[in-house]
Amino acid sequence: MEILDGKVVSARIKEDIAKEANDFFEVTGRKPHLVAILVGHDGGSETYVASKIRNCEKVGFKSTLVRYEDNVTEDELLAKINKINDNEAVDGLIVQLPLPEHIDPEKVTAAIDYRKDVDGFHPINLGRMMRNLPCFIPATPYGIMLMLEYYQIETEGKHAVVIGRSNIVGSPMSILLARNSNPGNCTVTLTHSKTQNLPDIVRQADIIVAAIGRKNFVTADMVKEGAIVIDVGINREESSETKSGYKLYGDVDYEQVAPKTSWISPVPGGVGLMTIVGLLKNTLKSAKGDIY
Ligand code: NDP
Repeated sequence: MEILDGKVVSARIKEDIAKEANDFFEVTGRKPHLVAILVGHDGGSETYVASKIRNCEKVGFKSTLVRYEDNVTEDELLAKINKINDNEAVDGLIVQLPLPEHIDPEKVTAAIDYRKDVDGFHPINLGRMMRNLPCFIPATPYGIMLMLEYYQIETEGKHAVVIGRSNIVGSPMSILLARNSNPGNCTVTLTHSKTQNLPDIVRQADIIVAAIGRKNFVTADMVKEGAIVIDVGINREESSETKSGYKLYGDVDYEQVAPKTSWISPVPGGVGLMTIVGLLKNTLKSAKGDIY
């Protein structure tokens, strides 16, 4: 069993990003600039946004955090997005999800200028991804593809089973794995909560991508000997053992599953770190005008 080590891969790719950001600065006199909007005080969202901002600084990007309280109106938020869309000094704009109930995430996603949509959630970017056209690819699936590429994992012809069909992880992941590319060229089965006989299907997988949001969902009896397992889940549980007061768990029962696999990504230290890399790469591409 070998580890798909997000720490190693993300550090390596971030070195390249930092070099490119520096070159960009020398030519243009400015840094790639990411703006993140955070609404409310959800613990997970606070952590993710803080990490995105910290990583921007590390690779020599400029970053701006815009904060709103839970009671911000949808109109206020949309007005701010429009303002940032028009600001030529901003390359990337992300709005951290989830949003409070009274704000429609679809409206917010669609309001972001697709040319600054470095999360890759805008319908234009998702549509272009379907067509294999240049676009911003959603950061988590993008990060996973970069990880597979780094370890030169042979994916062609393999049966990949993706568990979870969200717009931000499962669905785009299934599209990327099925694309005629390397990594890619998989035969993909996309599964969800209505899937029948899920364990039987997962047992047939050469590659499993678990993006459900339930601790220990994938158990050893569901995993074929030698499978490649990518654990996207981030499940936070309170813990007195850690300084932060919580512990992170993936969707895979790591202790039991790992010995059966050929490759597995841990949580923490796996896909989460690669998501940041996907976001940074998209922001750099936006600044350089590589996509639009
Ligand atoms: P969503 O809640 O949007 O989607 C979860 C998916 O899992 C849905 O498609 C749902 O099916 C499916 N599901 C739920 N229960 C079952 C079940 N019993 N059997 C089969 N499928 C089931 O979550 P996200 O995709 O946003 O996130 C998934 C996980 O990944 C979360 O833990 C999240 O925190 C984590 N995450 C991690 C990131 C990272 O950087 N590592 C980035 C983004 C997310 P249905 O559609 O039928 O409801």
